[in-house]
Amino acid sequence: MSLNPVRPWRNIYRRKSRQIMVGNVPVGGDAPISVQTMTNTDSSDVRATLDQIIRAADVGADIVRVSTPDESSTRALREICRESPVPIVADIHFHYKRAIEAAEAGAACLRINPGNIGDASRVREVVKAAKDHGCSIRIGVNAGSLEKHLLEKYGEPCPEAMVESGLDHIKLLEDNDFHEFKISVKASDVFLAAAAYQGLAEATDAPIHLGITEAGGLVSGTVKSAIGLGNLLWMGIGDTLRVSLSADPVEEVKVGFEILKSLGLRTRGVQIISCPSCARQGFDVIKTVEALEQRLEHIKQPMSLSIIGCVVNGPGEALMTDLGFTGGGAGSGMVYLAGKQSHKLSNDQMIDHIVELVEKRAAELDAAQDAAE
Ligand code: SF4
Repeated sequence: MSLNPVRPWRNIYRRKSRQIMVGNVPVGGDAPISVQTMTNTDSSDVRATLDQIIRAADVGADIVRVSTPDESSTRALREICRESPVPIVADIHFHYKRAIEAAEAGAACLRINPGNIGDASRVREVVKAAKDHGCSIRIGVNAGSLEKHLLEKYGEPCPEAMVESGLDHIKLLEDNDFHEFKISVKASDVFLAAAAYQGLAEATDAPIHLGITEAGGLVSGTVKSAIGLGNLLWMGIGDTLRVSLSADPVEEVKVGFEILKSLGLRTRGVQIISCPSCARQGFDVIKTVEALEQRLEHIKQPMSLSIIGCVVNGPGEALMTDLGFTGGGAGSGMVYLAGKQSHKLSNDQMIDHIVELVEKRAAELDAAQDAAE
């Protein structure tokens, strides 16, 4: 990440991790922090699962996880992996055979805990399948399913027990000369998850997958994830993340990106800066922002847009954004381009005109990018 010499208080120093590949997506090292989600369809329903993967990829998912609890889902995985626009992680719990089938079916990564699948020969077989098919592995420690001997040793799920569990799983892979793994230590309690991740970050240089598990519904889960993941990312910890919400996977991806965008760790699409509105507003700020968010969802180029109800804050915010609109009263407002006052615009044309300006700017950026490649 490029550091900001002008505003050093914005710098985040990322923990140095080694890099692995999940399909064609690098995870760890200096790779962008990738955003993941997980499908919630019946995995053996290829069409429904692919549709969900494509919708998630359209809003920016870099990697998607699909659970493969039975043979019919690992069979379906072959077509899903072939058609998916992003690498697929197969989610396996105890059945080592599903892991082998998923690797054969084209999964880019297996989410499996080697300590949970039985004796050493089974671990060897899964590692061999991963090696043969170019799969990485994610070790996923969860506070809710810690090994019995660790619960006995520590009395309850605690950061130390979670890190120890993670290191035990790592050892099993390393003993088989397998190093293409990343690791998570999730908990639904933000304090527990944050402490466990900090311990893990010191104990290994493996790339870290962040998550607050079972975070809740759209609003409560978003807040919880933003606090938990936000703090860790701010400390420089985390190479890939999934926000877990009881909501559409598309929402998980959007929230993940918003967390990264808030910290300046990723940029994608239009970042709207808008005021909460009050009696001074020269137009309906809330309805306008809702409409713009929806109509600008397809924009991938990073861009900032300020939508401010009146001149109290409008010109100041517009100075720092690529595009701006400030309400001015009498049914019209002012458009700002690259921080400079540009032209007057009537409120009833505003949404269409701003969408047009953003699309034009995105097309220019696309063309410049194409010319540079
Ligand atoms: S910018 Fe103007 S309209 Fe928006 S909240 Fe502030 S005073 Fe109210």
